[in-house]
Amino acid sequence: MSAMTELSGGPALPQERRLVTEIPGPRSRELMARKQAAVADGVGTVMPVFAQAAGGGVLVDVDGNSLIDFGSGIAVTGVGNSAEAVVRRATEQLNRFTHTCAMVAPYEGYVEVCEELARLTPGDHAKKSVLVNSGAEAVENAVKIARYHTGRQAVVVFEHGYHGRTNLTMALTAKSMPYKHGFGPFAPEVYRVPMAYPYRWLTGPEHCAEEAAAQVIEHITKEVGPENTAAILVEPLLGEGGFIEPARGFLPRVARFAREHGIVFVADEIQSGFCRTGQWFACEDEGLVPDLITTAKGIAGGMPLAAVTGRAEIMDAAHVGGLGGTYGGNPVACAAALGAIETMRELDLPARARRIGEVMKPRLRALAEKYPLIGEVRGRGAMLAVELVRPGTTEPDAAATAAVAAACHNAGLLVLTCGTYGNVLRFLPPLVIGEDLLNEGLDVLEEALAQV
Ligand SMILES: *Cc1c(COP(=O)(O)O)cnc(C)c1O
Repeated sequence: MSAMTELSGGPALPQERRLVTEIPGPRSRELMARKQAAVADGVGTVMPVFAQAAGGGVLVDVDGNSLIDFGSGIAVTGVGNSAEAVVRRATEQLNRFTHTCAMVAPYEGYVEVCEELARLTPGDHAKKSVLVNSGAEAVENAVKIARYHTGRQAVVVFEHGYHGRTNLTMALTAKSMPYKHGFGPFAPEVYRVPMAYPYRWLTGPEHCAEEAAAQVIEHITKEVGPENTAAILVEPLLGEGGFIEPARGFLPRVARFAREHGIVFVADEIQSGFCRTGQWFACEDEGLVPDLITTAKGIAGGMPLAAVTGRAEIMDAAHVGGLGGTYGGNPVACAAALGAIETMRELDLPARARRIGEVMKPRLRALAEKYPLIGEVRGRGAMLAVELVRPGTTEPDAAATAAVAAACHNAGLLVLTCGTYGNVLRFLPPLVIGEDLLNEGLDVLEEALAQV
């Protein structure tokens, strides 16, 4: 067990891959039958095992199988599944009170989280925040705030973007199946523009940033009108759309255009934020200072919390009572967030994420050399992916991707897929995973690739 694992806190689970039944085992199969009878079919399951415990880099199922976790509950448990400081602070808060409603009788934890967000997010201007319950709710609030501040309606979003599953955020999300299909009509005044996706840029990756930015600017100028545009909303490193790293230079160009036209530039860092990419926030990589930033997932060690943080004069635009919600900034979730942030600082998790990238990326590149099924290796820090294609082409191979993921699952490695074409395997290990386990996970991946 490596030192990092011991520091992770949480249940003292042996940090090992251990299969004691087939996957799924009998207890999981029993529970799955109950799930099918009681839970709506629309709620899918990536891996058909039921969780019993989790911590460090493993998830233990109800049959006693211990799986290596390369998913972190979709980029949530960066600090681990029950980090010591998260459990301690949330428990203390549970014993004091569970709820008063921040709009009825506020409490210190809410303010403290907003103070931390002002310190941690890029830019040294005056900042304020509003706390809500989910990523989608944060994005909705960012749009509300940008519209109020500018007095404009149009929102510009990107190909391959993902922003959530509520009505407005479905409209903002690019991919139809499974996120939007059958759920329309969608909110109006949403305009989609090209993303600088180097691997699939027709004239080649070297032209991607400049050409894509020119297309975005042309589209907004001619078809939307900058004077009608409230916000440009973008993930600085795309999540569900396939872990696409926008070509370097693209985002600074788009941000400059936004600034020149009084358009609010919003970075959706819900997946890429809180140390995941090797910095506190992914937009730091190109020195971007967004006007507003949305956060969720990694913020509170697994407790539901999300935020919009931004320039005080924009955040203050809306009238009193215009923002909020019954549970937004729940005191237990705020206490958990303060514990998670304490853990990120104490363990220097940005450095830990960079180290994970240093271990994983060369090994993924070596796999790409060996298996022409891998078209591209990309990502930063502990937010990495491989895009799978038919060998010798760039044609997406979703079937092979599903087969590799299934082979990993059967061998005790939890991996997730993503991508507009369903052909991306993504790797989001907890930032506190031990290095032995990380390497063993990659061994499992290699065996799965060899099988497929
Ligand atoms: C997950 C995600 C969301 C939505 O967050 P929820 O908490 O699921 O509503 C929005 N934007 C990005 C980039 C995400 O990854």
